[in-house]
Amino acid sequence: MVFLSIYLKEMDNYFKKNLCCVECEGKLEFKDDCIKCLDCSSEFKIKNDIPLMFSSQDCSNNLMKEYIECYEKIAKDDLNDSVTEIETLNERYKDLKNFIGNTKDKAILDIGSSQGLFLKTMEGQKVAFDISLNYLREAKKINLLAVGGLAEALPFKSETFDIVICSDILEHVLAPEKVIKEVYKTLKSDGSFIIEVPFEEDLLKYKIYEGKYKFTHLRNFNDKTLFKLLDDNNFRIVRKKYSMYKASLSLPIIRRLLNALPIKSFKKPIFVQLEAKKKNL
Ligand SMILES: [Zn+2]
Repeated sequence: MVFLSIYLKEMDNYFKKNLCCVECEGKLEFKDDCIKCLDCSSEFKIKNDIPLMFSSQDCSNNLMKEYIECYEKIAKDDLNDSVTEIETLNERYKDLKNFIGNTKDKAILDIGSSQGLFLKTMEGQKVAFDISLNYLREAKKINLLAVGGLAEALPFKSETFDIVICSDILEHVLAPEKVIKEVYKTLKSDGSFIIEVPFEEDLLKYKIYEGKYKFTHLRNFNDKTLFKLLDDNNFRIVRKKYSMYKASLSLPIIRRLLNALPIKSFKKPIFVQLEAKKKNL
């Protein structure tokens, strides 16, 4: 039996029941050190008992390789010295948790979960999904189901989740449209898609990461672009909430300076939270 030496039996069963091939959606066979698709023969690695569902196509694409490497580096740096201050994180988690509401007995997927700190605060059957193995190892330590892969190619069967969360993700990913399409597939017909993104953000502030990280925030969102992205992909927005938090950047000196500013006096939302549902409902 796979996983049982370290992983809980529950996790083993979960993966066998809910994962599918990212290349062809085929049925998977679980071996000791890898996962194999019975339909197209694609192979996926298992590292530290975490299924890494990257397709061979993605792994041979140079841009994607660089992207994955960049986020492993960001994860490593973040785990050493948190990118966002813990008070800001806690405030944001509380706010997002309130926005989502009751999740008891719900199947939840957090895309770009990082080390699972937000999921940890939620009830339900929770899956931490991230591009970074460094983050997922931490998520596993707090007993979350951890799966690696790309948001643009989710390795879950159709209509698996009641709630899919993309918090601070859509501004990072290479292909947001693809992510939305994948969410549509994995979400149950009456499920909720929860999005949180920076609102009308000035991307120039990420210039300070030039040379350090190749990829940071790739785009900003406003009401119009968010509506279009969802509408074009068969989602309708059912709730929306704007939030203001103090900005945070990884350089402590800049962080302190920004936090000293009376940001609320600018009267401009910094984040927006959305709940979207499939249009047929
Ligand atoms: Zn396959």
